[in-house]
Amino acid sequence: MDVLRLDNISKSYGKVKALQGVSLTVPEGTVFGILGPNGSGKTTLLSIILDVLAADSGRYLWFGQPPSKEQRKRIGSLLETPNFYHYLSAVNNLKITSSISGRGDVQDIAHTLRSVNLYERRNSRFSTYSLGMKQRLAIAAALLGAPRVLVLDEPTNGLDPVGIAEIRELIKTLNKQGHTIIMASHLLDEVEKICTHVAILKTGKIITTGPVDEVLADEELVELSADNNA
Ligand code: ATP
Repeated sequence: MDVLRLDNISKSYGKVKALQGVSLTVPEGTVFGILGPNGSGKTTLLSIILDVLAADSGRYLWFGQPPSKEQRKRIGSLLETPNFYHYLSAVNNLKITSSISGRGDVQDIAHTLRSVNLYERRNSRFSTYSLGMKQRLAIAAALLGAPRVLVLDEPTNGLDPVGIAEIRELIKTLNKQGHTIIMASHLLDEVEKICTHVAILKTGKIITTGPVDEVLADEELVELSADNNA
């Protein structure tokens, strides 16, 4: 079953054509990377499928259905770092997040903290967390309400090497536990390490898409994915 299908999505900001006729399919159970250099349209694409932005044209389907409030509950997302309170614990921060979003209850909070391996540190203040732990808490917030799909925008951006390794491992674990993951990245080696499928985006167009081992075997296409390892 396809989790997500995009048909011919376009979006411009004034004269800037951010997305030009993007079509792609995300199969269930995958870690699906949207790989492209800065400015290629990754955030615009994720914002559209999360209903944060409206497309100018085209359509998309979640689980074969037009987007709806019900469908939206099955999708967790991390587009921007949440504003956690530095002087509050992880548990209390998630209680606030949960009450604002209406997702998850106390049991769910405990479960998500275990999922991201922060349960032991659940009562520590957010300010005492490492960068990787902070990002794991942000992913825990996205997991409230037990979504089937997680949409993550550049989830390792700005982290130190330990944090990067933690987040990559967590994404693989969450995928093994049954979540389909859709993530933007500008790092070829990241996509190679953790994604099962990829779509390469260049100036708003999909150059190619498919299983990672097939797509990345084509060196010419990989060259086009540009600022690798930047
Ligand atoms: P980055 O990794 O730098 O965020 P990206 O691949 O996510 O890049 P987008 O942020 O989607 O790309 O931007 C795609 C294009 O649209 C870029 O040329 C960008 O400058 C432009 N753009 C994005 N948001 C706006 C906006 N609100 N107003 C005008 N232009 C925008």
